[in-house]
Amino acid sequence: MTKQPAIQPPTFLFYTLGCKLNFAESAALGKQMQQAGYQPVKAGQEADVCVINTCTVTQTAEQKCRQNIHRLIRKHPEAFIVVTGCYAQLRAAELAAIPGVDLVLGADQKMDLLQHLQNKKHEKAAVFSGPNSEIHRFFPACARGDRTRYFLKVQDGCDYFCTYCTIPFARGRSRNISIEDAVLQAREVAHEGGREIVLTGVNIGDFGKSSGEKLIDLLRALDGVEGIERYRISSLEPDLLSDEIIDFVASSKRFVPHFHLPLQSGSNDMLQLMHRRYTRELFASRIARIRHSLPEAFIGVDVIVGMRGETQERFEETRSFLENLDFSQLHVFSYSERPGTQALKIEPAVSSSEQKIRSELLHRLSDEKRLKFYAARRGEHAVVLFEKGKKSDLIHGFTENYLRVEAAWRSDWENRSIRLILGDFNADQSALKAVFLP
Ligand code: SF4
Repeated sequence: MTKQPAIQPPTFLFYTLGCKLNFAESAALGKQMQQAGYQPVKAGQEADVCVINTCTVTQTAEQKCRQNIHRLIRKHPEAFIVVTGCYAQLRAAELAAIPGVDLVLGADQKMDLLQHLQNKKHEKAAVFSGPNSEIHRFFPACARGDRTRYFLKVQDGCDYFCTYCTIPFARGRSRNISIEDAVLQAREVAHEGGREIVLTGVNIGDFGKSSGEKLIDLLRALDGVEGIERYRISSLEPDLLSDEIIDFVASSKRFVPHFHLPLQSGSNDMLQLMHRRYTRELFASRIARIRHSLPEAFIGVDVIVGMRGETQERFEETRSFLENLDFSQLHVFSYSERPGTQALKIEPAVSSSEQKIRSELLHRLSDEKRLKFYAARRGEHAVVLFEKGKKSDLIHGFTENYLRVEAAWRSDWENRSIRLILGDFNADQSALKAVFLP
């Protein structure tokens, strides 16, 4: 009797663009598919299902999404092609019109992926997506990053409607995980041997809108989870960063001295045009308050250059404001026109060549600040959580206050915290070298 060849389980791959939230959600969906008997595709293997989790934060991000959708259709011609994520929520028909796409899922339908999967390609793509006013569900997600830290989604959506931003339209209104479920997920991470968790969301400071709970109570509850060494808060709106949160981080066992605050502009006129909910004076007071309680804290600041309305004078206001601000590093974004946003009505527009000049100026300022912040810590004792990395003769990790540290490779240091002294800069000044305690 001829032996029947073993039936191969269907295979899948994810291609994810955008923010940590998207990566956490792709990992959560991937876990669901594996539990349903699908196998992640191996390199060079053809996939039966390809899922592209898209981003819409800039024109470039959308372009990359389309390019990768076409690339995966060419590479996996028999595969069932699914497109989801923020771009799919905002312009489902546009993506459904790409020949070879079988299914487009909006933000609220993303978590029903398994129900929509079919093993045969469609003539015409099926679309399951509704208006952003109908995005209500919170899709829990927690994912191990590519190295050591886990990303735990605690909040989604946004009620702020800044004039340049499409995220409230792509992800709906603010909603969140319950504190109880967040603690359960953190325990699972500890059980898997995870040591560091980054709390992610769209507007984390707005935690509690859908559960009536408070962010400070979430932080306190997570601080009690045994096995987790560190928590980082991925980003907090300056107007939602209370003294209570700063003091909690200063006194907590596991929350590290690392803050990421979106400023966007150092000109109050621009902050008004952006409909941001603070003035630069408030922003400066938050930085001063952090430095008062946590002088060693790493403070990352987001800024947008070249938004409509940003005259040369207003840009100079931003630059001089930042020069006098005690932060550690800038994340500089060039403004990108987004369809349907209020910002499109603001004049004057800023040319892309002028955007480039302003971006370079702020990148240079950011390098100066980062090197100054690093240099001031040389010789200090620190605990470094070394990361899993590609085999090389070096291993890297981060201190609690987010300094990157480099040491000679040791396999037994992966995902381990090591106490050491911070030495001098490495060759490309991207890290401080580790000096080991006798
Ligand atoms: S706070 Fe503003 S910029 Fe941030 S996601 Fe919400 S609307 Fe967008």
